[in-house]
Amino acid sequence: ADQRVYNFSAGPAVLPVPVLEQARDEMLCLPGVGASILEISHRSAAFTAIIEAAEANIRKLLGVPDDYAVLFLQGGGRLQFWMTAANLIGELGAFKGKSADYLLTGSWGKQAMAEAKKVAPVRVAYDSSGSNYDRLPAPFCAGEPAMDLDPDAAYVHYTCNETIQGVQFPSEPDTGGVPLVCDASSDFMHKKLDVTKYGLIYACAQKNAGPAGVTIVIVNKALVADASPNLPIYCNYNTHIAEKSLNNTAPTFSIYIVKLVTEWLLREFGDLDAVYKQNQMKAKLLYDVMDAAPDFYIGHARRECRSLMNVAFRLPSDELTDAFLSGAKKRGLSDLKGHRSVGGARASIYNAMPVAGVECLRDYMLEFKNQQG
Ligand code: PMP
Repeated sequence: ADQRVYNFSAGPAVLPVPVLEQARDEMLCLPGVGASILEISHRSAAFTAIIEAAEANIRKLLGVPDDYAVLFLQGGGRLQFWMTAANLIGELGAFKGKSADYLLTGSWGKQAMAEAKKVAPVRVAYDSSGSNYDRLPAPFCAGEPAMDLDPDAAYVHYTCNETIQGVQFPSEPDTGGVPLVCDASSDFMHKKLDVTKYGLIYACAQKNAGPAGVTIVIVNKALVADASPNLPIYCNYNTHIAEKSLNNTAPTFSIYIVKLVTEWLLREFGDLDAVYKQNQMKAKLLYDVMDAAPDFYIGHARRECRSLMNVAFRLPSDELTDAFLSGAKKRGLSDLKGHRSVGGARASIYNAMPVAGVECLRDYMLEFKNQQG
């Protein structure tokens, strides 16, 4: 354990140490069960208690109303790209014949739209690819065009935090009443949301909520109620709503870790307002360094929309970037390389990244800059 580094991976990503310790301690024998979480039936009383607790914790943290289901699915964020469209606008969807609007503010939104396009017509309501996804529409970014919304769209899809570009919506876009479908994969539970503003929220767990293998979906049950029963059984939200995510063998270990992570959030912070406060503080530590040396640490995202979760920046040359990354590694600051489409460096500082880890990176950034004279 003393070899643990500060891991800035974009995902799968850092988990809280107390969660890992508890999973280790309970690995051979879940208290009162006599077997490992890996060995028990997904229909056992012991696992039922675990999945129910995970759901209750998420409901508590996010204030999820009763008319929304909380589902634990497989297939990752990527299956949701297709599944949302198939259940809503596809041939078998609840709003067959309608199209959907997509906000393209980063690589993931673009891929979400590409999958949706396979089942039904979609429209681009905003696209910042021309500037390599560094901004958001007005009113979030001044001088940008506003969203070009179709009032008859079945939904508006957006990615509240673009993991690669480090572009985050500070609040929900105003769609004038058209349901919001949100890919919250990389900032899920980083702050409190008003869930009633959304038709559907999905998030793969392996960034801010747990390990790979489970994707959490929060869906307004009425929105998907009219999807056809002829959808593949696994790809129909109504299956999972009716069977409480246990139609097939659920990813039991991943759900167990989500339960531990949400318990940790409740125990350590109490609520998501406190989590958000800490996330703002952590991100500020790094953005302050960048703002003080904007020609050296060149942020990718525009200021109004830079992410609290993924801090993406370039250095003035590839040589400096390489030196920065290898020096960081020597200090136990790992996985800081930026995605190839953006280059440079990216620090992912999810809920579980300790303040001390961000302080360590901040100190290294200051020192590295000073060394260059
Ligand atoms: N959406 C976003 C915003 C992501 O960051 C990712 C994963 N990096 C995905 C979707 C895809 O998730 P998965 O790999 O679980 O399919």
